[in-house]
Amino acid sequence: METAELVSTGNELLSGRTVNRHARLLGSRLGDLGIRLVRDTTVGDDLSSIVEAVRSALDRSGMVFVSGGLGPTPDDLTRDALAALLGRRLVTDPVSLQRIRERYEAFNRRLTSSAERQACIIQGAAVLQNPVGVAPGQRIEVDRGVIFVLPGPPAEFESMLDEHILPWLSARSGAEAARTPPGIFMVCGVGESDIVARLEPRGFPPEGIDVAFCAAPGRVEIRLSGSGGTASLQAAAQVIREELGEAIFAEERISMEACLAGLLSDPPATVATAESCTGGLIGHRITSVAGSSRYYVGGIVAYANEAKIKLLGVRAEDLNRYGAVSEPVARQMAEGVRSRFDAEFGLSTTGIAGPDGGTVEKPVGTVFIGLADREHAWVRSFRFPGSRPNVKEWTCQMSLDLLRRRLLGLLAEDPSADRGGAER
Ligand code: ATP
Ligand code: MG
Repeated sequence: METAELVSTGNELLSGRTVNRHARLLGSRLGDLGIRLVRDTTVGDDLSSIVEAVRSALDRSGMVFVSGGLGPTPDDLTRDALAALLGRRLVTDPVSLQRIRERYEAFNRRLTSSAERQACIIQGAAVLQNPVGVAPGQRIEVDRGVIFVLPGPPAEFESMLDEHILPWLSARSGAEAARTPPGIFMVCGVGESDIVARLEPRGFPPEGIDVAFCAAPGRVEIRLSGSGGTASLQAAAQVIREELGEAIFAEERISMEACLAGLLSDPPATVATAESCTGGLIGHRITSVAGSSRYYVGGIVAYANEAKIKLLGVRAEDLNRYGAVSEPVARQMAEGVRSRFDAEFGLSTTGIAGPDGGTVEKPVGTVFIGLADREHAWVRSFRFPGSRPNVKEWTCQMSLDLLRRRLLGLLAEDPSADRGGAER
């Protein structure tokens, strides 16, 4: 398998101010093309460190990505480091210079000589125009392979990768990459160890197939790759489908809310949310998808008991009798928000996110999720693990999954027969 390395530059990546996001993105995108990212070296904004890191990466791999340090400030040293390492001159790229001038003009900014420096490229490099920012990237072919230089801001890094570099790499490897597409399975509601326990008796992973798991609260991504050829990849994919069935919400890397977007559009249906412990996170996630106005009508964050009573019509006596974190309250929140917004579906959450507030009967992580349609309401109870943000994430994911299951006709029509919900 072809390998690649990343050299990430920036003091902020070492001082803890910024999390390095490029390795993750690059690793998964290259994996799609059958290229393995084998190392990420992070160095500060220091010329000799950058030179040294790129030199040793090139010694090991024929493909090196360098990110960051292409801007106009004195700590942006990547261009100079590469010129020194490769023994090549820096030249001004006229097209980039023109774009920089136009961009500065459009934003009413004064063009300085340091800004113009961003148009400098290594002699002989192919210029990769920046789809969302100023500094161009570069593709530099060298004796030992190829160096890609990309800007540091994540949005710029990602769009340059997607618009220039990946198409170039796929064109280069031609039909080979297309012959063995990787298999991706997004799974909700089954934990990693459960997945392994279900797959192992089926002889998983088969010879020649690599399986990678990536878990986040409420979801696991399974990815298949390998040299076994299309037939064995398809056989492995079939085993996953048989064992995990409806827990698979997508066979591409998309979020649950993106999956719901498709389901809520055809046939069209609307949803409203009543959130307590998730504090608006569900609304945020649903509205992160472009076009969500077609199916999301709105939501109420009802944190205090009074808000649940006044805004959602939850009965005060049920709050007193069962507590805010309870089956009847989750149900009434879902029904209340559905009818107030006149939506097809109402989704609700109420739970104890912690770290305080737990009791023996209802420990931290206890959550009730409600879903109401025009006729029925389903409530599921869970016990989620982890910190406060974790519990919120889990709750959010499992509520969206409950709606997905309803939309796919996977819930029992008679809610009293519904057996979902469990300890996690
Ligand atoms: P600029 O023109 O903005 O200076 P640049 O190409 O010089 O771009 P840097 O100066 O290294 O890039 O970084 C710019 C911004 O991008 C910073 O806010 C930095 O925190 C962020 N950034 C850089 N590298 C990474 C990374 N690996 N992961 C996440 N964010 C990053
Ligand atoms: Mg910079």
